[in-house]
Amino acid sequence: GEQSHLQRGASSITLQGLHKRFGRDAVALDGVDLTIEAGEFFTLLGPSGCGKTTLLRILAGLEEADEGQLNIGGKDVIDVPPHHRSVNTVFQSYALFPHLSVRENLAFGLKMRGMPAAQREQKVAEIAQFIKLGDLVDRRIDQLSGGQRQRIALARALVCEPDVLLLDEPLSALDAGLRSQLQVELLRVQKRLGMTFVFVTHDQDEAMVMSDRIAVLNGGKIQQVGAPREVYERPSNAFVARFMGHDNLYRVTARNGNRLTTELGELEVEQDGGGDLVLIRPETLDLKPGHVEGVNHLHGRIAERLYRGSHAEFRLELAGTTLQAVVNNRGKHMPDVGDEVTVLVAPEDLVTLSE
Ligand code: ATP
Repeated sequence: GEQSHLQRGASSITLQGLHKRFGRDAVALDGVDLTIEAGEFFTLLGPSGCGKTTLLRILAGLEEADEGQLNIGGKDVIDVPPHHRSVNTVFQSYALFPHLSVRENLAFGLKMRGMPAAQREQKVAEIAQFIKLGDLVDRRIDQLSGGQRQRIALARALVCEPDVLLLDEPLSALDAGLRSQLQVELLRVQKRLGMTFVFVTHDQDEAMVMSDRIAVLNGGKIQQVGAPREVYERPSNAFVARFMGHDNLYRVTARNGNRLTTELGELEVEQDGGGDLVLIRPETLDLKPGHVEGVNHLHGRIAERLYRGSHAEFRLELAGTTLQAVVNNRGKHMPDVGDEVTVLVAPEDLVTLSE
């Protein structure tokens, strides 16, 4: 029963053929087509300079696209100024007024919209309860920690009840512990409000934890859109695979039916999607002691072992190259550095893709 009065209709977002360049050479967005569903936690993920912030600023109305269409909640908003869009933004730099109290910061946007004082107070009290701000509301911003400020910035964006909330790397200034705590809190808030969140990050782990779906961007172009598992387990090209943290990519030099000749040796795949690379996810591998012959059995030597309690990470030398393997610690064979091992590769876990 915590949904209260804060709940609002969420909006879907449609982008078509968005182009944006700065000056003559800097292409920030190079033809972006995207549909974000109402109520979705949607993440724009990519390296520095890929166009994430530009895309977010166009959604907010802070930047104008050179070309393309933008629809929010079924309305064409390309010519609608920022304050007339039902969209709010949380920035990495909190953009709060340091000498004002939390309460005054939260009420500021409502006051600008001409909301009467009594109603403002009620809204602020509601959001303070919702985000569990407790007695922070009477403190000044400059008396708060980084994590507390970030929660106030979130509360201030939510108090105006936008249909869409845009978040530009809101957690990246925080240390790891606080960051994962706020990730959980942010996700909980989004699920309870049912609001559409568009979240920008360059951190693939954060994107996987938070998102219903992720769009991976590079060079102003969308590389792949999908649920975290799709993007991690079935990356559509080598850029996405590497960005999601994969190192085990190997050249395919020939193919005969489902049999691939690769730089690691012969590998059978269940489904060959074409492309001149094969991806082996490290956690899909099994290690057996010694030299065992069989289909999709590779032979190598343990070069490195990082024991992490719940699992161990191995670097193997084989076929003149290296292979990463992750083995969970559940009665599995845990070889030592220098051991000769057989690596079992499951055909259904192999993905073929292009550069
Ligand atoms: P970061 O993670 O570093 O913030 P980003 O993915 O958000 O990067 P954008 O800020 O959208 O990337 O920038 C995309 C491209 O457009 C970059 O090449 C950038 O240098 C360029 N760019 C962005 N804003 C401007 C501007 N105001 N003037 C000139 N070039 C710009």
